[in-house]
Amino acid sequence: MKIQLETIPVWDGVKEGSECFICTLMKKAEEDGVRYYLSSAVMTPEIRVETNRDGFCPHHFQLLAEGGKPQSLALVMDTYYEESKRIFQHDLDRIQDAGSPRRLDKAVSSFFDSVDEREKGCLICSRMEERLVRYCYTVAALWKEDAEFRKALEESKGFCLHHTRDLYRMAKEALSGDDLVEYGHLLFSLLRRNLDRVQHDDWWMTQKYKSENKDKPWNGCEDAQKRAVYKLIGEGRVIDPLKR
Ligand SMILES: [Zn+2]
Ligand SMILES: [Zn+2]
Repeated sequence: MKIQLETIPVWDGVKEGSECFICTLMKKAEEDGVRYYLSSAVMTPEIRVETNRDGFCPHHFQLLAEGGKPQSLALVMDTYYEESKRIFQHDLDRIQDAGSPRRLDKAVSSFFDSVDEREKGCLICSRMEERLVRYCYTVAALWKEDAEFRKALEESKGFCLHHTRDLYRMAKEALSGDDLVEYGHLLFSLLRRNLDRVQHDDWWMTQKYKSENKDKPWNGCEDAQKRAVYKLIGEGRVIDPLKR
């Protein structure tokens, strides 16, 4: 697999000092994806073939709906509805024609199978997945090639639990043998060390709410409860990419 390196965003990421710079990059990828499908790109017939056929996951449909671009989204939805009607027509006819509870049940069940099938896959998730693969591959490649990057990564706050899985998956494309073992150990020692650190920050928040500690310093733990959540689940998650 030939994967394009994303050296600049990954170097910028490791320097930013966040809990997971893959989260930061993926939130940006998500914003870019939403912006693209609310732009004039949706006026072009090829893109509308894609939106009609594949659509979006519920999360990204929601971001599109809240994206403040009514005209673009109205165009997308009009023809998406048209295609949905075509797909559902047969099942809806069968529901109307069903003369017994058993037949009705069967037809309704078949209709909702089609609905589930229609919901599968998301164009924004697919665009995000392409970037996620490149970012995670680049982290492993830079770790191998660039001693300065390796040091920066070792001293960083690591990654969220969610993205550690993607980083390891792509490490297997970039590295092998002893390199893969060493890098794998680094990923998971970063994870352990930084989950402990985040838990400690969260614990300090619980202590700060005790009256005897109210004058003690926060030590940067004012947002510890949120960091504790996102260090596990990540942000900018790829939910349902198309599998072609
Ligand atoms: Zn993350
Ligand atoms: Zn999606």
